[in-house]
Amino acid sequence: MKCYDCALSGRSDTTAIGVCTRCGLVICRDHGRVTRTVIHQSRGTGASTTGRPARRAVCQTCYGAEYPG
Ligand SMILES: [Zn+2]
Ligand SMILES: [Zn+2]
Repeated sequence: MKCYDCALSGRSDTTAIGVCTRCGLVICRDHGRVTRTVIHQSRGTGASTTGRPARRAVCQTCYGAEYPG
């Protein structure tokens, strides 16, 4: 698997490290971002969190769309 952004820029020497959870494209370390996200669970009397952040990989483009600026 090759990173999509690397393929666009003609690079072929990178190794993919994951898949963007938003757009589903393959990403490498240079083009991907790993963010932390809190899992919300609903247990009967309303939403609660586990208190432990989960890991989530997004590509550069989706990261920029989610966190502009
Ligand atoms: Zn890349
Ligand atoms: Zn993406």
